[in-house]
Amino acid sequence: MHSVYIVEVIVQMNTETKALINKGEMLPLMEEFYTIQGEGAHTGKAAYFIRIGGCDVGCHWCDVKESWDANLHPPTHTDTIITNAKKYANTVVITGGEPLMWSLDYITKQLQKDGIKTHIELLAPMRFLVFGTGFVCRQKRQNYPCSALTKKPTN
Ligand code: SF4
Repeated sequence: MHSVYIVEVIVQMNTETKALINKGEMLPLMEEFYTIQGEGAHTGKAAYFIRIGGCDVGCHWCDVKESWDANLHPPTHTDTIITNAKKYANTVVITGGEPLMWSLDYITKQLQKDGIKTHIELLAPMRFLVFGTGFVCRQKRQNYPCSALTKKPTN
């Protein structure tokens, strides 16, 4: 489902932009700002928020529906985003949208290289398990099938 959506978005971009997006060297940036984390275990701590456009999940309570259409958010060089973040904070929160629709290898490696703590807000736990450890995530969608992941076989 996600790969089909990404293909639809990328088809509308020029060849160079597509290549950079595929490598994670550009991301559809919706907004970026320095603020205080208001949720989760890091509530009250300052962080630089990077909101990446694009989401095909469709939570009915979503408060950032304007993030859903990635075509509305300009492909932005990831190095520029990182440079901006480093001016403000030693912690970055990558949010969306659903950020794991995009390649985050480049941005996370660069941030880690610069000693920036990286928190990713995503539709956990499924994608968190795929992505690995070292990041903070929170579950956004109620009733996501955690029980399906942990349910013991009946036979
Ligand atoms: S995953 Fe996030 S951005 Fe996507 S619909 Fe749900 S709350 Fe909104």
